[in-house]
Amino acid sequence: MQTNQTINAARLWDSLMAMAEIGATPKGGVKRLTLTEVDKAGRARFAEWCAALGLSLRVDAIGNMFARREGRDPARPPVLMGSHLDSQPTGGKFDGALGVIAGLEVMRTLNDLGIETEAPIELVNWTDEEGSRFGHSLMGSGVWAGVYTLPKAYALRDVEGVSVEEALDSIGAKGPHKAEPFPADSYFELHIEQGPILEREGKTIGIVTGAQAQVWYDAVITGQDAHAGTTPPSARRDALVAAARVIAHVDALMRARGEEGRGTVGQLQVLPNSRNVVPGEVRFSVEFRHPADAEIAGLAESFPAEARALVEATGCRMELTELFRIPAQPFDPDCVELVRRAAAKLGLPAREIISGAGHDAVYVARRVPAAMIFTPCKDGLSHNEAESILPEEAAAGCQVLFEAVLARANRPL
Ligand SMILES: [Zn+2]
Repeated sequence: MQTNQTINAARLWDSLMAMAEIGATPKGGVKRLTLTEVDKAGRARFAEWCAALGLSLRVDAIGNMFARREGRDPARPPVLMGSHLDSQPTGGKFDGALGVIAGLEVMRTLNDLGIETEAPIELVNWTDEEGSRFGHSLMGSGVWAGVYTLPKAYALRDVEGVSVEEALDSIGAKGPHKAEPFPADSYFELHIEQGPILEREGKTIGIVTGAQAQVWYDAVITGQDAHAGTTPPSARRDALVAAARVIAHVDALMRARGEEGRGTVGQLQVLPNSRNVVPGEVRFSVEFRHPADAEIAGLAESFPAEARALVEATGCRMELTELFRIPAQPFDPDCVELVRRAAAKLGLPAREIISGAGHDAVYVARRVPAAMIFTPCKDGLSHNEAESILPEEAAAGCQVLFEAVLARANRPL
């Protein structure tokens, strides 16, 4: 690497592995569900590490943690960096944890090298990024950015009926600070790609230029339950056949948009789900994503009528509910440029990439100039206990984070 200010790759990896012990699963993954006793242990470890560096910790009302390293100029707003420590029920060691632990390593390196920055730097652990317990992803960053209200988040309940507020209280994670945007200079998030593109192309760094536009639907197709043996084709109203045509259409719409297209039916419920009954009802999810708002707007315009025509041709009816539409979120060009420059300076193979997944940075970007750095993960696999990255990939991502954050914190105003 073309620098004499180098992060400690071994220490970074050791801390990643130490965090992965908290909630470790037998298959080598992590189960650190948000606001559980396991999450509490992860938060405690994070707080200890921050305290050892002399960082001051603030916790807000939704449990977001901010660890601050002062700058030379007290008038400057902080440069933020971070990600999340919660995981999916069968999650991996690196989704989220990489961004937080790499941020910690940036702080450690700044301390080791005695570097004083102009602006303060704050390391963030956002609460409940995954959404797997309370059904609402990006909760902490969403409340902070004003996408959701605090009372709405507090009232969400898990399958056992425990509310977010009760869960926060039960592990002492509710802090005294308001969960709302404060003046911040910028936000940088390092994350594994969770897709196959970097690995496939032999790139070490993804310069993330933004996140995709999305539209999500719930679909219910109603036909008629009927005997599989006695009902001739002319008398059938098979809701599953209708759904199959819609699903094939979703796939065709995606493929018509080339490699940038995304269209998925990931959830399907067949009723009565009996092998000798023609299905009378099918419920399923539909989502489309694309980097361009215009593509998603076009799909939202045309897809409902096209799907309805396919369904009605089978004699069934369809109810299609649009759940939400999220515009594409471009990241801040200046922050992205710092990531691009850092990768170039370090001689790391890099490419620009659009985030296919939701990330805390996407909501934070509504309030603060933001950028993300991606690193490859094996076979593009994530939300899986087999999620795997190489120590040198973690180190490269961390070094880019270090360079970008340092440059931003010392930029001339
Ligand atoms: Zn994540």
